[in-house]
Amino acid sequence: MKSPFFNRRKLLKTALFTSAAFMATPLGRAKAQALSGKKVIVVGSGVSGLTAAKTLKNQGAEVIVLEAKPHIGGRLRTDWSMGAPFEVGAGWIHGPSDDNPAKQLADAVGSQYVVTDDDSLVVFDGTGEEISEEDLEDINDSWTHILDQIDESLENGDRRSVLEAINDVAPGAMSEPGVAWAMSAYTEFSTGAPIENLSAYYFNSDKAFDLPDVAVTTGYDKLLGPLAEGLDIKLSTLVQKIAYDDEGVTVATDKGEFTGDYVVSSLPLGALKAKTVTFDPPLPEDHQSNIDNLAFGTVTKLALKFKEPFWDIETQYFGVMTQEKGRWNYWLNYRTFSDENILLGLSVGAYAPVADKMTEAEQIADGMAVLRDVWGEAVTEPVQVLSTHWAVDPHTFGAYAYIRPGGSSSQCDDLADPIEDRLFFCGEHTIFDYKGTIHGAYMTGLIAAEHVSEAAEG
Ligand SMILES: Cc1cc2nc3c(=O)[nH]c(=O)nc-3n(C[C@H](O)[C@H](O)[C@H](O)COP(=O)(O)OP(=O)(O)OC[C@H]3O[C@@H](n4cnc5c(N)ncnc54)[C@H](O)[C@@H]3O)c2cc1C
Repeated sequence: MKSPFFNRRKLLKTALFTSAAFMATPLGRAKAQALSGKKVIVVGSGVSGLTAAKTLKNQGAEVIVLEAKPHIGGRLRTDWSMGAPFEVGAGWIHGPSDDNPAKQLADAVGSQYVVTDDDSLVVFDGTGEEISEEDLEDINDSWTHILDQIDESLENGDRRSVLEAINDVAPGAMSEPGVAWAMSAYTEFSTGAPIENLSAYYFNSDKAFDLPDVAVTTGYDKLLGPLAEGLDIKLSTLVQKIAYDDEGVTVATDKGEFTGDYVVSSLPLGALKAKTVTFDPPLPEDHQSNIDNLAFGTVTKLALKFKEPFWDIETQYFGVMTQEKGRWNYWLNYRTFSDENILLGLSVGAYAPVADKMTEAEQIADGMAVLRDVWGEAVTEPVQVLSTHWAVDPHTFGAYAYIRPGGSSSQCDDLADPIEDRLFFCGEHTIFDYKGTIHGAYMTGLIAAEHVSEAAEG
């Protein structure tokens, strides 16, 4: 059995990122004190903001990081309260080859990994019956074949959604539960987007590093340590307004004003779309329209810990062909890499914002109903639960960026363009090729730091 989960993207589009600029950590590779005497304010302490801040500090700048939350990390945070790592945001290092900066950062803190085996997958149909390996193989083949047909049918600037393109190349395919499940559990999960809102032209053209994905069993967020070390980080400090002019920048927060020469904003796309921070003067039209037109999806995680396992502890993933597309249709079995009896359910696509808005009690009832459809009365009450609500997180509003039908990759990349050589954006949404990833966020921090450096040189 061959499950194609994240692999198809790599097969079609493998393009190793080889630029030396991104291969080392920002630590200790600083240009000589090029920014000495300059003051930079960095908004947000996720991977991109910390990377920019650390790099700029290493170049001699005085740097202050302002973070709304009481902790650093943003969409990278590990919760250990269940006894095994629950990754609230990013869970996998995608393509953990040696040239992947996320892998380099994780290696540097002595991380340990488990390769999540996409081939170790059992899928249940809508009645809770396990489907045969042959049927799963057929589903995977259909999924791959349809996406290949879409690729072949694309013409420059195609404005169809993935769903429209599926309906064109394989009419009726989405009424086959197996195909509909694969489109959601594989494609909607990896893109964070409902296929009906996702550009057929762009959804599969970003880049990937090599090797099968790994989860970090020692906790993904440990890699933040060296990035944050030595930085002046003001936690629980909500940025409200960013003003910039020829003289410099003023950042207004709920804890007072901060002034400097430059500001690097790592505000998530969701926060930019929701206009949680006012820009004075307003952002240039191009920036604002890219923010408006880019889309921001979400993914919901629900970890249920049980006293005893009622599932096959050797199988890494369970798929469930739930009737509603995206509803708790993929489950990761923690027993394949820890001693904890945890099943981690995922809601994706259009169902993820619905799940994000549920209370935890509603999420539990919803997720448990899916488990009971499969394992019936064997399902016991969970002894502990953790879940996520990214779409309603007031500082984030979702998981990661994607391109809508009719959109373009430049909507991401152009957001990294400096504004008046005072205001610089970074964050996963500012790099099309690596958006929605930790390594992408890291790269954008380096790019923003480089832009500040260039501005300072005049
Ligand atoms: C559920 C989920 C699953 C994911 N899975 C993966 C995965 O498996 N692998 C992978 O590589 N990537 C994954 N990602 C994506 C990855 O987590 C992100 O690409 C990356 O963490 C983004 O980093 P960032 O620095 O751009 O933004 P963030 O980490 O969001 O940092 C932005 C920071 O700005 C702060 N902020 C916002 N507003 C304000 C304000 N007004 N004032 C001050 N501070 C503010 C926020 O609190 C936050 O700390 C996942 C993300 C999510 C949510």
